[in-house]
Amino acid sequence: MLTQSNSNSTPKIISLITGGAGFLGSHLTDYLLAKGHSVIAIDNLVTGSTANISHLVGNPNFKFIKQDITEFIYLDGPVDFVWHFASPASPIDYLELPIQTLKVGSLGTHKALGLAKHKKARILMASTSEIYGDPLVHPQPESYWGNVNTIGPRGCYDEAKRFAEALVMAYHREHQVDTRIVRIFNTYGPRMRLNDGRVVPSFIGSALQDQPVTVYGDGSQTRSFCYVSDLIEGIYRLMMSNTHLPVNIGNPREISMLGFANAIIKAIGSKSSIVYTPLPKDDPKLRQPDITLARQLLNWEPKISLEEGMERTIAFFKNLVEKGAEIPKT
Ligand code: UDP
Repeated sequence: MLTQSNSNSTPKIISLITGGAGFLGSHLTDYLLAKGHSVIAIDNLVTGSTANISHLVGNPNFKFIKQDITEFIYLDGPVDFVWHFASPASPIDYLELPIQTLKVGSLGTHKALGLAKHKKARILMASTSEIYGDPLVHPQPESYWGNVNTIGPRGCYDEAKRFAEALVMAYHREHQVDTRIVRIFNTYGPRMRLNDGRVVPSFIGSALQDQPVTVYGDGSQTRSFCYVSDLIEGIYRLMMSNTHLPVNIGNPREISMLGFANAIIKAIGSKSSIVYTPLPKDDPKLRQPDITLARQLLNWEPKISLEEGMERTIAFFKNLVEKGAEIPKT
């Protein structure tokens, strides 16, 4: 698994990250560089941004390749680990980019698996709690098969990820590729885009400018938010473990969207009011990870409280806004 570097005799671990300029991909890049890996990040910058990796310019252990991974990935030299993160991931993004979302989940996953097979690398695929759809089992364990509307607005993302999981397992069974699947639940933290439409930037962006905070539906739907550093640690442990079956990584603390809106308004000391607009179609009513497996297999559980994580995230967005970033109208 270890690869000799060209320049000296120190073994270098080479990691390839698809979606390496995205929110999670860029945090993973930083984490792996700190662990001593050489990192190659591939991203077509449709939803990722070079701003997330600009601090790595000139780092001899980092290389960025701008490419759409639905096209053939040609890479010279060895690769030890493939971390497959490329995909639009915000409902607003994948509603705008349904075909790209389906293509990256299917064709992109095929290319990433083909590369891993060719390089004899271990590959981890970023799956999602969305594969459980609007769940009828709560909290969601990995054994739950889900409740997804294939033809609804979220179908492009949910089914792409479900197909991707099936393709990963096919490569594992048919070609003995060393695979991992992580099911990622709602994650937040610095480097989310202010305008990506997800609830964290949306609520914080509005509250920072004392604009009404828009709650969809009556706000009784729940989510469970994991701070990004906790998530990355769990994902790293999964890659280094020996389990090829899917593992949920997320924070089990569950909160209603109305409760979350109030908490953010309070944390910012904002004068924002709350306004209600209709719940988008197929918006899951409940979501909470069952992380029993992650606890048992990876000895992992989240450490950052929602309060602490929100404080860091609010500070990040505040800084962006003070530097003149435009806050989208909700
Ligand atoms: N939501 C909301 N106001 C917003 C954005 C989102 O009330 O401005 C709600 C949305 O309906 C969902 C939850 O917040 O119930 C989380 O939405 P997000 O887009 O972050 O991701 P999801 O978990 O639905 O994929």
